Amino acid sequence: MNNFGYARASDVADAVRQIAADPGAKFIAGGTNLIDLMKENVARPSRLIDITHLPLNKIEETQDGGLRIGALVPNSDLAYDPRIEARYPLLSSAILAGASQQLRNMASTGGNLLQRTRCFYFYDTTTPCNKREPGSGCSAIEGINRMHAILGTSEHCIATHPSDMCVALAALDARVLATGPDGERSIPFAEFHRLPGDRPEIDTNLRADEIITAVELPAQGFATNYSYLKIRDRLSYAFALVSVAAALEIEGGSIKEARLALGGVAHKPWRDRDAEAQLSGAPATRDSFARAADAVLRAARGFGHNDFKIELARRAIVRALTQAAAGTPQSQTDKRIR
Ligand SMILES: Cc1cc2nc3c(=O)[nH]c(=O)nc-3n(C[C@H](O)[C@H](O)[C@H](O)COP(=O)(O)OP(=O)(O)OC[C@H]3O[C@@H](n4cnc5c(N)ncnc54)[C@H](O)[C@@H]3O)c2cc1C
Ligand code: SF4
Repeated sequence: MNNFGYARASDVADAVRQIAADPGAKFIAGGTNLIDLMKENVARPSRLIDITHLPLNKIEETQDGGLRIGALVPNSDLAYDPRIEARYPLLSSAILAGASQQLRNMASTGGNLLQRTRCFYFYDTTTPCNKREPGSGCSAIEGINRMHAILGTSEHCIATHPSDMCVALAALDARVLATGPDGERSIPFAEFHRLPGDRPEIDTNLRADEIITAVELPAQGFATNYSYLKIRDRLSYAFALVSVAAALEIEGGSIKEARLALGGVAHKPWRDRDAEAQLSGAPATRDSFARAADAVLRAARGFGHNDFKIELARRAIVRALTQAAAGTPQSQTDKRIR
């Protein structure tokens, strides 16, 4: 048992003051990832700063026609919000593909962005892991790496980012609002998460003394032609082997705009703008989708057990784009249990 302190933040400024004063402290929101990491002795915060009472639990309209989602909005509330369901069903669908109803009830928007990899070596403190203990080595590269990355890897880490919600947020061009000692800043989603490079212990570009206050969605929601396709070992309560967020704007059979982001394949939600540009102006056909899949996977590399992911991703991209184009999304629409 590691001793740790506990304090409740009274407002955002107080939360920033507290985290800036103690580099060993961590915010706690839903606790669904952090508490597990503490139980496994992977995270050893000196203090938990409880942010659950901050007024960051609203979804509000923005002036440019988008929505601002407070960092403490639970994943369930977000997925079932009528504005999200109607205007950003891709996001609803991605959230409902993740975890379980109970977890989604607890998990917060901010915490989902900052959840850590599910690489089993990261959680096993008896094995080397550069992300947990920089410089100790990577057990996955030569080890069991079925769940691991095929894009954007480094010789230091081949972990994947496990979130579903973040794949949709990447495709939708969301922005992350963060507040630190120098005030508030807005981070484009594509720049929020990092590739491992030679510092795999750092997952994101959020500074240690910043708090996420909100995520902003732009007006364009791709509500007609979208699909979130998640391929996993079980139909529920399992992380993605490969997931695809596809969103299209189609006019007269031609693609006017395309968004394509992948989960389960890289250290961050993987968005490929070259492949999107290639789709733009192309006919909405299987051939175009297959060419886009080839473009996304041109630099993919397997590590043995996860070689199958390259072909799986290729097929998943074609299927998700086909479903999006047909307006028949692969959605998680089970609303029976809230
Ligand atoms: C068994 C299981 C299965 C799961 N399956 C899936 C899945 O299939 N797909 C999926 O996407 N997710 C899945 N999850 C992950 C789940 O979605 C995350 O654990 C959850 O979103 C984290 O949110 P939280 O509020 O509980 O974060 P916490 O555990 O409270 O915090 C996580 C991290 O974020 C930091 N933090 C939290 N809020 C803020 C903030 N506002 N500003 C700055 N830092 C902050 C904390 O300090 C901590 O480091 C699963 C989790 C479990 C336990
Ligand atoms: S893949 Fe990354 S998280 Fe997994 S063992 Fe290697 S360094 Fe650690």
